[in-house]
Amino acid sequence: MEKIKIDDKKTLAFPRFHHYNYGIRYIVEQGLEQRYLMLPEATKETIELGSKYSPDYACAPFKHTLGSLIEALNAGADVLIEIGGLCRLDYYGALQKEILRELGYRFEFVNLAEYMGGRKKEWLKLAKRLNPKVNMAKLLTGVYDGVKMAEYMDEIEEIYFRSAAFEAEKGSFRRICRQFVLEMQTAESRGEIKEGYQKAKQALESLELRRPRYPVRIGVVGEYFTAMDAHSNQNLQEKLVRLGASVERYLNVTNCHFRAGEAALRPRIREYVQYNMGATTTWTVYAALSYAKRGFDGIVHVKSFGCTPEMDAVPILQNISRDFHIPVLYLSYDTQNSDTGLDTRLEAFYDMLERKKKVLR
Ligand code: SF4
Repeated sequence: MEKIKIDDKKTLAFPRFHHYNYGIRYIVEQGLEQRYLMLPEATKETIELGSKYSPDYACAPFKHTLGSLIEALNAGADVLIEIGGLCRLDYYGALQKEILRELGYRFEFVNLAEYMGGRKKEWLKLAKRLNPKVNMAKLLTGVYDGVKMAEYMDEIEEIYFRSAAFEAEKGSFRRICRQFVLEMQTAESRGEIKEGYQKAKQALESLELRRPRYPVRIGVVGEYFTAMDAHSNQNLQEKLVRLGASVERYLNVTNCHFRAGEAALRPRIREYVQYNMGATTTWTVYAALSYAKRGFDGIVHVKSFGCTPEMDAVPILQNISRDFHIPVLYLSYDTQNSDTGLDTRLEAFYDMLERKKKVLR
């Protein structure tokens, strides 16, 4: 069916990826002055759709993102944007484009893997392709503000997972975070982004806490997409919070892309890793080691089934676990996971950490 256009703007879409679609929406709408298609939360159908048209050997992030892209096309997107990465993710965009074309969809495809490490000139050419009338000053401001929004969202999320388990009034943390997300979803200026962030931060910091004297602290490490994307990891961090743990996850876009890069972190883990092992293994090992040194009670390692780079991290985590006497729970996600199975494993892990803490105190 022919789409009815109300103006000459394009509708851009990006696969769902945790809370980062809000920052991307901002860059597209305020910087590129195009429309952004914000997908609703992923459902069981999203992953079923992605799995149906994916090769068997593809890892779960491929299937999740393909499902999102199909839903975006069905909802009217003209331009799909796919990301590149440090593993086979770099080839996924090209493959997904072919699969979608074979399914009969017509669309423009931007594969960011082709631009990674590229020069500024190439990125500006891309911006002009997406909007020939792009205003460079607006674009730069939009990118800056969109990135800032992602950083603020990471920070608020960190506060939430660190302390929500100890809230005196049930649901108070969630209420503030929901309102904050709503404000980021509709923000149209730097001022609105900053105001929303400051309000949320102050509100969270002023909440009353009933923190136990010896809270169970758990660090989450693992594969980039699965560790961050709550839908992909079945709300792992929220489940741990509900059990009563203080949870930290070093791996987020702020830490991985805007702070210390792989090369800067490697010297800090040299007793365990000497070479760049690809994808996010350095971040995984760095975070695990730092949790161990800071006296955390346990670590949860998250990966997608068949993810080679994260498989390589496992023996190193076993060494850290042995050296620091810190238990590690290994979770491998496919596209069909049982919630009950995960709940049982997390409960057992949490109980074991809590008991160990009582005995050693
Ligand atoms: S890091 Fe692993 S799971 Fe993630 S995209 Fe690469 S191969 Fe797939």
